[in-house]
Amino acid sequence: MGSPLVHRMAGYGSTIFAEMTALATEHGAVNLGQGFPDTDGPREMLDAAKKAIDEGRNQYPPGPGVPELLDAIAAHQSRFYGIELDPRSQVLVTVGATEAIAATILALCEPGDEVVTFEPYYDSYAASIALAGAVRRTSVLRFPDFGLDADSLRAAFSSKTRLVLLNTPHNPTGKVFSRAELDVICSLAREFDAWVVTDEVYEHLVFAGSAHVPVAALPGMAERTLTISSAGKTFSATGWKVGWVSGPAEAVAAVRAVKQFLTFVGSGPFQPAVAVALGLGDETYAGFSASLQAKRDLLVAGLRSAGLEVAVSQGTYFVVADAAPLGAVDALEFCRDLPRRVGVVGVPVSVFHDDPEAARTLVRFAFCKRDEVLHEAVRRLTRH
Ligand code: PMP
Ligand code: GLN
Repeated sequence: MGSPLVHRMAGYGSTIFAEMTALATEHGAVNLGQGFPDTDGPREMLDAAKKAIDEGRNQYPPGPGVPELLDAIAAHQSRFYGIELDPRSQVLVTVGATEAIAATILALCEPGDEVVTFEPYYDSYAASIALAGAVRRTSVLRFPDFGLDADSLRAAFSSKTRLVLLNTPHNPTGKVFSRAELDVICSLAREFDAWVVTDEVYEHLVFAGSAHVPVAALPGMAERTLTISSAGKTFSATGWKVGWVSGPAEAVAAVRAVKQFLTFVGSGPFQPAVAVALGLGDETYAGFSASLQAKRDLLVAGLRSAGLEVAVSQGTYFVVADAAPLGAVDALEFCRDLPRRVGVVGVPVSVFHDDPEAARTLVRFAFCKRDEVLHEAVRRLTRH
């Protein structure tokens, strides 16, 4: 009968994160591969989820999301960015940012439409574009500064461009797009009459010297921008899978039309808990980024002492390093061998590229881990 997997999904068999986490378990290695924290998020949020379960909020929530979470997301966008949304028509709760990305692309793209995005890209972008039968066009961000290349970005646009899929702060590079870079992207989106879909899941995990600029807050962009975020990263609850998308009512309704047939709804008792978390004080939010910045500094110093060249991240959970000095020739082979040889797991950046040459020896390490875990990883890397 041939392969049971449809042709357009060939090549998306198993994610790199699943593969590397399995290797970490097999070899008892320190897992700096998959990006998940090893400590819990705010106590108020955890208690609110338990309370919601005890109060019997265990059946289907409303399709668009529970009202208090819709309100909290709208209030968050207003409080941090001055973006005003009608919570009933301009916000949709999804099963993580992953579902928001898939539902948005499936809602907006006809087969053959083109999606412009940046390499390296988060793995679900390529898979979601493929699911929609759309075509990926990319512009490469290059190590070590990952600056936007305006000429290659322009070359990626055409009359078939339906949307630009942007991620800032950016996984895996840790880059935070500057206002000037966003202006280039936005002006191309306007020129080619394209939507901007912006994945801002690391919006609060930005370090001193950088600032997150949401595309929807830029002049004239709200009407063509769908903004995606998630509670997983900000509140250290990646397993809860509470995400959301916001933007013009008509576009949000289009995403809802697809989303309702993917999962209908999800994460019932976690939704009111995330509403509580979103309302926490500024000092709590500042604490998240400050503690993560200290972890970044710890890992960057350790990787440098192990002889790697490091691109210091401006945000996210991640830092990218060139492992050539450790003997890496091919990042994928290197990362497959590292757990057994050294007892540490990283993720090869090359798998997030159409052209793996752009990141031949680059490895992404996650620093959203307890300090002792980071110290142990550095000790193992330095010993080799
Ligand atoms: N976008 C990016 C850039 C991510 O890094 C991740 C997950 N790490 C997601 C989306 C998916 O988020 P969620 O877990 O909320 O589905
Ligand atoms: N987003 C996480 C990362 O980049 C992993 C999520 C997943 O395993 N799909 O590491």
